[in-house]
Amino acid sequence: MKNLLSLGLACGLLLSSKSIGADTGLMADSKKVSAVEYLYADVSDANTVLATIDSGLLSSYQGKGRAAWQQLYREKHAKLKKELQSLPTSGLSGGDARAIVAMRKQMQAFTAGGTLFSPAAKCQNAARKDIAYAELKSALVACFVEIGNSLSFEGGKINRVSALDLLHETSDPGHRKAVFLAFVPLWQAINGNNEPDSPYRRMIAGAAAAAAKNGSAIDAAAHDVGIDPPEVERWLVQILDAWRESSGDVMVEPWDYRFQTGEADRLLGTYIPRESLQPINQRYYHDLGADLEQMGTLYDLAPRPDKAALAYTEFVTHGRVLNGAWTPTVARVSAPYERGGLFVLNELVHENGHVVNITAIRNRPAFVDWPSDLFAEAFADVPAWSTYEPAWQRRYLGHEAPEQLSLRALYSAVMLDVAWSLFELRMFRTPTTDPNALWTEITSRYFHILPHPEFSWWAVRVQLVDLPGYMVNYGFGAILTAEMREHISEALGAFDTGDSRWYGWLSEHLLRYGSERDTRTLMQDLLGRPVSPQALLQQIHRLKPAAPQAAGDHSTARPAT
Ligand SMILES: [Zn+2]
Repeated sequence: MKNLLSLGLACGLLLSSKSIGADTGLMADSKKVSAVEYLYADVSDANTVLATIDSGLLSSYQGKGRAAWQQLYREKHAKLKKELQSLPTSGLSGGDARAIVAMRKQMQAFTAGGTLFSPAAKCQNAARKDIAYAELKSALVACFVEIGNSLSFEGGKINRVSALDLLHETSDPGHRKAVFLAFVPLWQAINGNNEPDSPYRRMIAGAAAAAAKNGSAIDAAAHDVGIDPPEVERWLVQILDAWRESSGDVMVEPWDYRFQTGEADRLLGTYIPRESLQPINQRYYHDLGADLEQMGTLYDLAPRPDKAALAYTEFVTHGRVLNGAWTPTVARVSAPYERGGLFVLNELVHENGHVVNITAIRNRPAFVDWPSDLFAEAFADVPAWSTYEPAWQRRYLGHEAPEQLSLRALYSAVMLDVAWSLFELRMFRTPTTDPNALWTEITSRYFHILPHPEFSWWAVRVQLVDLPGYMVNYGFGAILTAEMREHISEALGAFDTGDSRWYGWLSEHLLRYGSERDTRTLMQDLLGRPVSPQALLQQIHRLKPAAPQAAGDHSTARPAT
């Protein structure tokens, strides 16, 4: 990790001196706004550098320790607030006016450090009924760190990501059930005994109340695509119906679902040891025209007990024009990987999809920020879904799983995201709903999973408590992923085995705008029409109607028909 880090930094500095020639639109129209915007960029950098230091990856950055960055943040943040207020309210160009609105909005999300997805709160506070919504959420996230990072299994400890991975790989049904049951302490911390005032039920009531005032992530996703919120539910159900029809009618236990659909993961797992994850990932992006090492990306992929319980990507510094040249964005990827495997590799490629998204932004400082959550999550899967295509596997692993098994492995995971999206949509609509009953209804109807309402087995994703409503960005986002993959393949040709034009083409057509363009405009301009679920439905229809059976060691398995 250290070697990677210093190498990345060195290359990043080299790249920063590269001249970009005469770019337009990268600077403000008014000198006054430009000065404020560069101050904003410094505050924004200090904000994300502090988060990098607080993540435990580094103790200093660019020669400055935490205290120096904090002081810089405080001073410049105060100055920025004052200067933003003193800017003229009329006589500005349209671009400058929009930049000011964007800076004000993005500043509200600044945290001045702190550990992302790993708050200082204590899990035990989740049981307290006197705490406010925000504190309750933090306590529930802490449960994912405290309990999810050290699940007891067979006399040892494993983390949540490894346990989910083991559900794909463990051939003995009894062992599989034991892995599944290792989650019970986490489920109880999140949803108690599923009583009406369980921690999760109190939290989702708070989330629904906040959404009634400010809108939910689901409303935002509907807006991003240009449809009414009720239409989101219809699209999700349409997709799940297609999955139900393509996945046979054999009922399976919840601890067997991932194993039954995960044969491709098992066939290829031995070719993806943990230490191969990064080289494979880097080689694929290199073939797509994106050199992650040269971009100076920081990687923090090893597990630590107090580390965030999920993989995420964030800015370290924000790209901008300095002395006539583009200084690139530096990104950071954090993940708690104990093991290798295709499931983990797919996630790493997804995270690096976020990296290339933000490093491709070429815009004035106010817009060097994430696009919408829906767009960001959907785009990250554009390269990631290739890992389940046999052509990709042949090139990057030297081995391939049969297409049907690969597609089933990929879409069985995507469909769980769709199911969580529907689950959250319905919990938001009626927060008094019994979540275990709702999850049982969704998974038995669309996934043929035997009912186990005694387990809160939906509670394996930290987003459900950290960012309630966020799962729609994955589940509904899959519709945009399929649309983008189809359109890029039509415009450039297949890219599963690389295409050196890919990164440049996407930068130009989709990514360079950063937070400036809304998702609806981006997608409309790319596709030449509004988004529809057809491309994803076509992907599901690539699956033959009957489920191919895994290793044949499961009692409910029967031959495919
Ligand atoms: Zn993501």
